[in-house]
Amino acid sequence: MDINQRIAEITDRIKQAAQAVNRPADDVTLVAVSKVQPEDRIEAALAAGLRVFGENRVQEAQGRWAARRAVYPDLALHLIGPLQSNKAEDAVALFDVIETVDRPKLVETLAKLAQAGHKLPKLLVQVNTGEEEQKAGVAPGDLPALLDLCAEHQLAIEGLMCIPPEHEEPAMHFALLAKLAMRHGLSVLSMGMSSDFETAISFGATHVRVGSALFGERASSD
Ligand SMILES: *Cc1c(COP(=O)(O)O)cnc(C)c1O
Repeated sequence: MDINQRIAEITDRIKQAAQAVNRPADDVTLVAVSKVQPEDRIEAALAAGLRVFGENRVQEAQGRWAARRAVYPDLALHLIGPLQSNKAEDAVALFDVIETVDRPKLVETLAKLAQAGHKLPKLLVQVNTGEEEQKAGVAPGDLPALLDLCAEHQLAIEGLMCIPPEHEEPAMHFALLAKLAMRHGLSVLSMGMSSDFETAISFGATHVRVGSALFGERASSD
């Protein structure tokens, strides 16, 4: 299958998954995860009309997307990997959405950038639903305090994001994230990847992050 066929297939599966739970087909945004993919696949995705892309590293994303901004003014770039505070200024300049706000220090850094006049991207909080030690994201129990801190600093949080543990049934993690979002009045839910985006949609995902199923396998992991 070439990339155009894959894009058509994934787009169709997203629509069907939405309709299966009586949601409008355009309720769910496909975030095409382009990290580590070769340039020809990115070009093919752009030619096919995709405009929303996810990257997990700030520097890699700058190299790939900064110049393309001028050519594609309607691009929407999502940061989906952990953000170090010392890269926050670069991330704020490049991305339209940062999905990985996950700790007080980063909240404070973003608040300072806003005070200094930087226009902040839309912000999501990453929740470590599986409470995995090595994984980024705020523990579910610490989410209320982090959201309070954001409010104190007048940072608008639009929603939540999660990456379920690799070897667990993702459904319970999607259900938990949806419940947390509902409880806090947040409307954006970024959840679901190549292997489980249809399940995520059935639990209310508004954004699915799909990489390998769209572009093919990545050359290196991560
Ligand atoms: C790589 C990555 C994805 C995409 O994973 P696939 O399984 O290739 O679809 C989604 N979300 C995050 C946070 C990622 O790092």
